[in-house]
Amino acid sequence: AKVLVTGANGYIAVWIVRILLEQGYAVRGTVRSASKGAYLKKLFEKEGEKFEYVVVEDITKDGAFDEAVKGVQAVLHTASPVVFDVKHPDELIIPALHGTLSVLNSVEKFGTEVKRVVVTSSCAAILEPHEEGYIFSEKDWNEFSIKETAEKQEKALPIHQYRTSKTLAERSAWEFIKDKSLKWDLVTILPPFVFGPLLQETATKESLNFSSDLIYQGVVNPKTGDDLYAYAGNWVDVRDVALSHVLALQKAAAGGERIIVSAGYFAWQDLYDALSALPTPLPDVPKGVPSTTRAPPLVYSSAVAEKLLGVTFRTLGESAHDTIVSARERLFAA
Ligand code: NDP
Repeated sequence: AKVLVTGANGYIAVWIVRILLEQGYAVRGTVRSASKGAYLKKLFEKEGEKFEYVVVEDITKDGAFDEAVKGVQAVLHTASPVVFDVKHPDELIIPALHGTLSVLNSVEKFGTEVKRVVVTSSCAAILEPHEEGYIFSEKDWNEFSIKETAEKQEKALPIHQYRTSKTLAERSAWEFIKDKSLKWDLVTILPPFVFGPLLQETATKESLNFSSDLIYQGVVNPKTGDDLYAYAGNWVDVRDVALSHVLALQKAAAGGERIIVSAGYFAWQDLYDALSALPTPLPDVPKGVPSTTRAPPLVYSSAVAEKLLGVTFRTLGESAHDTIVSARERLFAA
């Protein structure tokens, strides 16, 4: 079978492509320029014709994916901006929302063989202020960021602008399929911060994707004081997220579901402790100030992922270790 992966050169997507190829699928990846495609073609050289790329310069254009969806049996839509230095929320919302709709429109019109579409959403699409101890699940929707962004526009916190883009994009996908009788169904995957080794092109430190940079910065600029014990976020390993996307297109029961894929929550001290506890600790990583003090976390339930996808998650120690080794290899290669 052949699978279309949009934004194939992204951090998560390159892992998805790799797992698909390892499992024997043929893959067509979309990228925004030929040079990004050439990097992937080289990376997957030994797969020969099983990996191909097509350039889709502007994913928001009507019909952008009309050609790309022809002859594939499944579509994984990952392309969406993960940047926080925009001048206006539309820079995030338009590509996220219209990119998603453009993929779905093309599938509806020309994806005659498509059986399933998997859209990469985010825990950003569920995260809202709640009382302490609340456990987030797939029934939650982030109305809060949408309201913030609608009211404050470019003055809203960048994180709310990003979360708005992800929430509107995912919601538009569910609205698109509602009340339609289609030959394909939809799954959305919702990861929190994604860590783990890098396969994508990373020429410089500045070219690290957002979530890899976050963990990298936490190692090169160690946290101190209360920042050690503050809730830092939920996380998941990129290999587990990628495998979850592949399982989401294989498991019949996943059809029609939103699925959170989260390995757990962390404070920076947890990450430093996990690194220290490894059988062979890495050199030059912070130890923090070991303590059992922790601020209350937010928790995302992965019960649906465990049940429907049967996925198990790597540990924080393994994921953090592999991220750091990989980032150091990439960024300090001789
Ligand atoms: P990357 O930044 O590595 O990849 C993003 C991909 O989307 C790239 O292929 C990029 O292409 C493409 N893209 C970005 N902006 C646009 C645009 N305006 N038009 C067309 N394509 C665009 O990020 P990730 O791999 O981390 O993210 C992939 C998906 O996973 C996104 O949907 C993101 O929201 C989601 N996600 C990521 C999390 C994380 O912690 N990393 C957590 C939860 C969800 P180009 O290289 O040309 O810019």
